[in-house]
Amino acid sequence: MDEYKGILVIAEQNDNIIHKVSYELLNKGRELADELNVPLDCLLLGDDGIHVEELNYRGAETVYYMKSENFSKPEEYLYKQNIVKFIDENKPEIILIGATNFGRSIAPRIAAALKTGLTADCTELQIDDDNNFIQVRPAFSDNILAHIKTVTYPKMATIRYKEFDEAERNVDREINVVKIKPYMDKYDEVEIVQSFNENDVNITEAQIVVATGRAIKKKEDLKMIKDFANKVGGVIGASRALVDAGMIGSVYQVGYSGNRVKPKIYIACGISGAPQHLAGMKESETIIAINSDSSAPIFSIADYGYVGDIYEIIPNLIRDL
Ligand SMILES: Cc1cc2nc3c(=O)[nH]c(=O)nc-3n(C[C@H](O)[C@H](O)[C@H](O)COP(=O)(O)OP(=O)(O)OC[C@H]3O[C@@H](n4cnc5c(N)ncnc54)[C@H](O)[C@@H]3O)c2cc1C
Repeated sequence: MDEYKGILVIAEQNDNIIHKVSYELLNKGRELADELNVPLDCLLLGDDGIHVEELNYRGAETVYYMKSENFSKPEEYLYKQNIVKFIDENKPEIILIGATNFGRSIAPRIAAALKTGLTADCTELQIDDDNNFIQVRPAFSDNILAHIKTVTYPKMATIRYKEFDEAERNVDREINVVKIKPYMDKYDEVEIVQSFNENDVNITEAQIVVATGRAIKKKEDLKMIKDFANKVGGVIGASRALVDAGMIGSVYQVGYSGNRVKPKIYIACGISGAPQHLAGMKESETIIAINSDSSAPIFSIADYGYVGDIYEIIPNLIRDL
């Protein structure tokens, strides 16, 4: 296992914009690399027009840049094939991937191809006294924090977005970008017939989230919540109950198995506040809850609470606003 060395961050980009989780991983990765005294490198797949050197400024020693016009948007199969080959050749000991929608989709494919372990959705990473890489993640609905040691190589982890601060930008850092030829830049077996884009929803970046849950009786009633969200300059979010009921897409889901959000204002309209929901929004700066049940758990973490029926309160609020 001595052949495995260093830490590799797999950076994410879409349409030439590097996802901020990459900078967060470089921040944590730098801390781990310094403790282990190993290099911190980064791999990016993309097309022309990306400011690749930004990854050096954020702390990557070497940025391996695999360029193809077919890499402009993240795509599981092509990306996986190339990343697996790269890892096979370069043998990093630790691989960090953001637990974004794409990261959650590609990381298990890479781990399966490499026949190695993967710890998903980590919230902390540590090095113990014996230089073991310890991956910390909540388990059993956030009731315990599991400390996981991977025994296979390489050791792979996905890390939740917004868990760590972004690495500071230092333009004095040396630019070291190594362009590498894709091992495979075309895949004809699958044809994209139509892409779905849910209005470019980016709930994780929103400053105001107006979320709703099972209180909504039918899909059409979501318009009321959308109107309210528009009035306050926010975006709509949902509990898993609404997603499971097929009323709204999973990109809107807030919580343990959905998106983690940290807006300035989170307004929960008819959401009970199950631990799995709270796991995704409890770090919001100000939490406002509207619920007809005064004993709903959401009130225990809300800064402001209103006991009442959303079907009465929200139309009134829209009118007053
Ligand atoms: C492994 C696992 C992962 C999960 N991941 C997630 C996750 O990521 N996100 C998530 O949200 N859940 C998740 N869940 C599900 C979670 O446990 C809850 O079931 C879910 O959050 C409940 O959604 P809800 O609050 O909308 O519904 P409910 O718990 O049914 O609550 C509805 C609330 O609306 C109130 N209400 C009803 N009518 C009105 C009205 N007219 N006006 C005002 N208030 C009203 C009720 O008083 C009640 O408090 C997960 C569960 C598991 C087991």
